[in-house]
Amino acid sequence: MQGTLQSIKHFIKEWTARDNRWLAVPCTIAALFVLLVLVKSCQGIVYLHSNECRIYKLGYPIEQARVLAATLSDEQADSLIARQEHDTIAYPLLSERYFILDNFDRYLAFHKTDTTGIAISDIVALVNVGRDGKTIAAPCDTSKGLLMLVNGRHYLDETYKPSDLATFNKTCCYEDQKALSVVVDAFVALQQECKKQTGAHLMVNSAYRSYADQIGTYKRNDKRYVATPGHSEHQTGLAIDVTSLQHPLKWEFGKSKEGVWMRENCHRYGLILRYPEKQSHIMGYSYEPWHMRYVGVETAKRIHDEGITFDEYYAFYLEREK
Ligand SMILES: [Zn+2]
Repeated sequence: MQGTLQSIKHFIKEWTARDNRWLAVPCTIAALFVLLVLVKSCQGIVYLHSNECRIYKLGYPIEQARVLAATLSDEQADSLIARQEHDTIAYPLLSERYFILDNFDRYLAFHKTDTTGIAISDIVALVNVGRDGKTIAAPCDTSKGLLMLVNGRHYLDETYKPSDLATFNKTCCYEDQKALSVVVDAFVALQQECKKQTGAHLMVNSAYRSYADQIGTYKRNDKRYVATPGHSEHQTGLAIDVTSLQHPLKWEFGKSKEGVWMRENCHRYGLILRYPEKQSHIMGYSYEPWHMRYVGVETAKRIHDEGITFDEYYAFYLEREK
């Protein structure tokens, strides 16, 4: 042992005595190389635990895993990974036009329970408007003014009454009807243009209805087409039911020339057909070719151009910005 130590000491003494400057460069390179290998190894270990790698392991192509990891929060990525399902639905969801990040877990949950093979765009729409069974009815946010949302999940209390009600003149309705003054003005302009274009005379059958009025309407009519009190847009003063002198019956009016013209042109006057035929499965309301809602020209145009319902517009453009 003593001999070995003596030998090592002798070797170090000899080594340090020599001129080893020529070794400085290769030693530095070797040290840097070792350092690089260590750094790369650490990076590899970190990457294995990254969201991108964990999502990639679920079966997503690396480009999609990268986008998902960059978009989802850590909690959402954990939730996706915890599903352990290789159906790779997350990326198609993310690519949907009306995808809302906060709703991500609800989209996944809705998809998981769906047994009907519903389209991904419909999953997004249904969850956005609160028709995935996770939303309880809440008071309508009346601060949204002309864009307030009243439906099966948003209600007005019995004391709510709009402050700027105006009366339609006699050429617009069979009996006295009121609506917000902007709605009255919009309808008159629509009525005049419809007359010019189709020769038919539009009429308002029903407009503002108080909470108490709605109780009576609800009792008297087919429940499929009448909202429960508090859940009727007619209480906002922004909704009107329209037919024409030529086609006073609601369903006939929907198929008439003026009914078709109104649907195609009402957005230019700030009005929308509130319950369109193609989207009744999203709305949860039956098609009503007579029920118009005022939302203002800009919003009506956007809803028309994008082919969405007001509920979807509200969820994506108004509520998402809360
Ligand atoms: Zn109506």
